[in-house]
Amino acid sequence: MAAEHFPRNTALRQFRSQLLEWFALYQRDLPWRRNRDPYRIWISEIMLQQTRVAAVIPYFEKFCARFPDVAALASAEEAEVLRMWSGLGYYSRARNLQAAAQQMVREHGGKFPKTEKEIRGLRGIGQYTTNAILSIAFGEQHAVLDGNVARVVARLGAIRGDPRGSTRWESLQRTASHLLAPESPGNWNQAMMELGATVCTPRAPKCLLCPVAKFCRARKLGIQGLIPEKRKKRATVEVTLAVAVMTDARGRCILLPPPKNGAGKAAADDIPTLVSNMWHFPTISAGNNPAGELRRYVEKNIAPVRGSPVRFTALEKLRHTVTYRAIRIFPFRVEFAKLPDIAGAKKILLQDFSTLPVSNLTRKVARAALSAAK
Ligand code: SF4
Repeated sequence: MAAEHFPRNTALRQFRSQLLEWFALYQRDLPWRRNRDPYRIWISEIMLQQTRVAAVIPYFEKFCARFPDVAALASAEEAEVLRMWSGLGYYSRARNLQAAAQQMVREHGGKFPKTEKEIRGLRGIGQYTTNAILSIAFGEQHAVLDGNVARVVARLGAIRGDPRGSTRWESLQRTASHLLAPESPGNWNQAMMELGATVCTPRAPKCLLCPVAKFCRARKLGIQGLIPEKRKKRATVEVTLAVAVMTDARGRCILLPPPKNGAGKAAADDIPTLVSNMWHFPTISAGNNPAGELRRYVEKNIAPVRGSPVRFTALEKLRHTVTYRAIRIFPFRVEFAKLPDIAGAKKILLQDFSTLPVSNLTRKVARAALSAAK
C-alpha cells in the first residue's frame, strides 16, 4: 500500500484535528460513551459485533443494569446471562463474556486488566476489542481496525480489492496506526468508527458532509463507490425444520434444555446450532413432508411412552436466517390431555417462554403459537 497516498506531517495534523473537531460536534450520544469504564466499553464492543447500534442500545442498558461490574457478571447463573442476551443472537458472545469475567475474578482479583497481553488473553477478546479497550478506557495508542475503519482507510488511500485479503488487512492496520492521533487515541478511534458508520457508509458515502473529504484519494478519483470490493458470499444453504409446540389444556408447553446438556437426543446434528444451544421446542430436520415426519417423530419418541397427543395443528409457516442458512420452519401445535414428562425439560406457560434463554428462532415459533391461540 503506497504510504504517499495518506496525509503526512502538516497535512496529517490537519487531517487529525478536522476529524476530531467533527467528532466532538457530531458524535451520537451512545450510552457506552458516557464514561470510560473498561467493563462497559468491553460489553458494548462485544454486543456491537454483528449487531446494529440501534438494536444494541436497549440490550446494553438492561445488561449493565443487571450486571453492573465484573463480579456481578462472573457470579451470575449462565441461564440468566443468556436470558438477558436473548434476542441479540450469536450467543457464544454471551457465554464468552461470562467466562472472561470469571477469568478476571480468578486471575486479576476481579479487576479489569490494563495491559495488552492480559486483555488479549481473556476469553472471546480479539485484537480489535483489545485495542478499543486500551485506547478508549486507558488512553493508550492502539489503533482499531474493524469493517467501518477499514472502509474509511481504504477509501482515503484509494486501495482497491478485498480489505480482508491476507496481507491487505495487516497493511490497513499499519495505516490506521499511522493515522492515529497520539494525544487522544480513544476519541480518534471512535471518530474513525463514527465516520465509517454515519458518513463514509458502505453504500452512497456522504462525501459532501465528510470532514476529511479533501484528504480522500478515492473521492478525487471518483471511485469511492467501488471501494471496498464486495466479498464473495458463502452460498446459502436451505434448511427445513419441523417444530412441535406441545401444549396442554392449561396452556403450558414443553421446552427442552440446551442440547449441549444432553437432552433432545433425537434431534438432528445441526439443531443445536440453529437453536443457539438454548432452550427450544422439540425440533427435527424435515424433508418434503414436515407434518408427517414430525407426527412420526412425536409418536415414536414421545407419544407411545406417555399417551397419544390429542390434536395436531399446523401453525403459520416461518422463515429465519442463521448465518448462511435460510431456514423454513413448519411449526405445529401438538395438544396433549396431559403433557409427557421428559427428562430435563420444563413445563411452563407458553406466554412465559422468555423467562428461559431462548434463541430468536424459538421466539418466532412461540409467538406464532401464541397468536394462533388468540
Ligand atoms: Fe469516505 Fe467520501 Fe469522506 Fe472519502 S470523502 S472518506 S469516500 S465519505
